[in-house]
Amino acid sequence: MNDNITLILDKIKAYSHIIIFRHKRPDGDCVGATKGLQQILRLTYPEKSVLLSNTDFCEYVSFLGEENPLLPDEAFTDALGIVIDTATADRISDQRCTLCRELIKIDHHINVDAYADLEWVEEERSSACEMIAAFWAAFRDELKMDVVAATCIYTGMVTDSGRFRFRSVSGETMRLAGMLLDCGVDTDRLYANLYMKEFDALKFQGYMFGRIRRTEHGVAYLYITRAMQEKFNLSFEQACASVSYMDAIRDSLIWIAFIECEDGSIRVRLRSRFVTVNEIASNYHGGGHACASGATVANRAEMRRLLADADARLAAFKQSEVGWL
Ligand code: AMP
Repeated sequence: MNDNITLILDKIKAYSHIIIFRHKRPDGDCVGATKGLQQILRLTYPEKSVLLSNTDFCEYVSFLGEENPLLPDEAFTDALGIVIDTATADRISDQRCTLCRELIKIDHHINVDAYADLEWVEEERSSACEMIAAFWAAFRDELKMDVVAATCIYTGMVTDSGRFRFRSVSGETMRLAGMLLDCGVDTDRLYANLYMKEFDALKFQGYMFGRIRRTEHGVAYLYITRAMQEKFNLSFEQACASVSYMDAIRDSLIWIAFIECEDGSIRVRLRSRFVTVNEIASNYHGGGHACASGATVANRAEMRRLLADADARLAAFKQSEVGWL
């Protein structure tokens, strides 16, 4: 366990006002980790003010509860800021974090930007929620947990690890998840919330299966226009979830969803098995994990260049590796 976690607890104890920050377009892990930590701190230190800065919203984990309203500028004065699940300063959803007196970073992404005064970064962790669970477990005699916090944290562990399937899942992940389950997480309800789909979304999935394309060496990809999103009455988030439709195509060790945004730019979601894709993402205004990254391209020409890069990466991998399946 990283030595800085004791320093982090000391900082938390020293401040009466704490604000927790997220990244832009927060996912289940980011929301679960921030809400989970907020609840742990509120339970343990009822005298402290522990707030969340949430300028953005994540629809598929909205069942985790209400968000507090946008904070006024004065709220940040003399506060301790804790930024979770965010590798670079520009990805922090509320840039007013710089108004805090001190900043802590807790993250499991590749550490590119040391923007905080104190950081705890473990790239091999399966989720930021796993880190919050580990933080609680390390100080279990002191920090309080309840079913609300446990559900938030367990949710992010499930969503960021692909239901505990990804390579980053370790024995420690499962032990921590077990401790959270022991706090009373209702998994029937949780999985119903996470995985039941609107009928329109299911029809969209059927339609999109027919539109999956593959490059010469097997990179699977989908392009989702605004018109398609409108036709199927989808939110942007639902459209973005389509990346998972391609996650089990034999031979397609890289798969990519391109989703047209309202401003005409194209959001790129890259996923892979065995082959790394984060270097490709970082060449296109993005980044992320070895096998799960995000990027943005300006137009279809740039999209084709990214696809060619991914195809070359997969071709090289297939040539150099044997026994990958
Ligand atoms: P996404 O496909 O957007 O869910 O992204 C997959 C992973 O890459 C997540 O862990 C994101 O936090 C990370 N990621 C996405 N976009 C970026 C970006 N522009 N810069 C750095 N990391 C990113």
